[in-house]
Amino acid sequence: MSRYVGRFAPSPTGPLHAGSLVAALASWLDARAHGGVWLVRIEDVDTPRTIPGADHTILDQLTRCGLLPDAPPTWQSQRQTLYRNALTQLQAAGRVYPCVCSRKDIADAWAALGEQRLRNSELVYPGTCRNAAATHRPAAWRLRCALVPHSGQIDWLDRRSGPQSQDLATAVGDFVLQRADACFSYQLAVVVDDAEQGISHVVRGEDLADNTARQIGLQACLNLPTPQYLHTPLVLGPNGEKLSKQNGALAIDTTQPLQALNHAARVLGLTPCEGNVADALLAWTRQWPFSKA
Ligand code: GLU
Repeated sequence: MSRYVGRFAPSPTGPLHAGSLVAALASWLDARAHGGVWLVRIEDVDTPRTIPGADHTILDQLTRCGLLPDAPPTWQSQRQTLYRNALTQLQAAGRVYPCVCSRKDIADAWAALGEQRLRNSELVYPGTCRNAAATHRPAAWRLRCALVPHSGQIDWLDRRSGPQSQDLATAVGDFVLQRADACFSYQLAVVVDDAEQGISHVVRGEDLADNTARQIGLQACLNLPTPQYLHTPLVLGPNGEKLSKQNGALAIDTTQPLQALNHAARVLGLTPCEGNVADALLAWTRQWPFSKA
C-alpha cells in the first residue's frame, strides 16, 4: 500500500465531547492499523466561530487519551497563503465568480421562482450572481458546479457506508470558497490542506459525509488527488439529536480517559477494555474492522 497519512481536524469551537472523541479515536486507530502516520490539524479558518484557548484544550484532551500526533499540529489560521493561491488559480481558470447575495436575497430568489430548495437547512444557491456584471461590493466567491468535471455528478465510496452519489448542481448549487468577510470556507481549506499534507485517508464523523462530494469536485478542479473516506457513526444525545457543541454537549472527562475512550469504542463497535489507556488502544487497533480497506 502507498504511504498512509491520516488526520483529525477539529474546529476549536469548544472542547472535545463524546461525539468528537469518536472521530478522533477512529482516525487514530485507522492510521495505527495501517501502520500509518496520524496528524492533527486545528481548523480555525472560521475565525468568528473560534473560541480562544479551545485549540490547546483539545490538544490536551487528546494527549490525556493517549492520542498523540506523529508531527506537531498545524493551524489553518497560519496557512491562509495556501488557500489564497488555490482561489487565485480557480479565478484565473474562470471556475469561480463573485457573489453579493445575502441569505435573504437567496430566499427571495427562490420565493420569486415559487419554490424553495433546502439541504441540511441551507438553501441551495439558485445561481443569481453566476452571470452578473462585475461589482465593487465585498463579494463571496462561489465555485461553478457546471464546470466541475462530470458536470458535478460525484460518485464516491465510503469505506463504511458503501457507494454514494451526489449531483452538486441540484443538491447544493455553486458553493462558497471565500466568504464576503474574506474568511476562506471550510470546503476550500480542507481540500487544500488534505492535499498539501498528503492525506491518503480521511476518517471523520458521519455529519460531515454530505460535504464529501463538494470536496471531491473541488479536488478535481484543482487537480488534487482524492483520499479514501470513512465516516463514523454519530453519538446521539438523549433527545435523539446528534451530539454537538451547538446543542450543549459536555466536554469529555479527561480525569477518566479510559471511560471516555470506552464510550467512543462502543460507538465504533469495539469491545470496551479495563486496565490502562495504552493497552486499550493496542487491543482496539488489533480489532479495528477497516484495516484492510
Ligand atoms: N473541522 C471539522 C469539524 O470539526 C472537521 C473537518 C474534517 O474532518 O473534514 O467538524
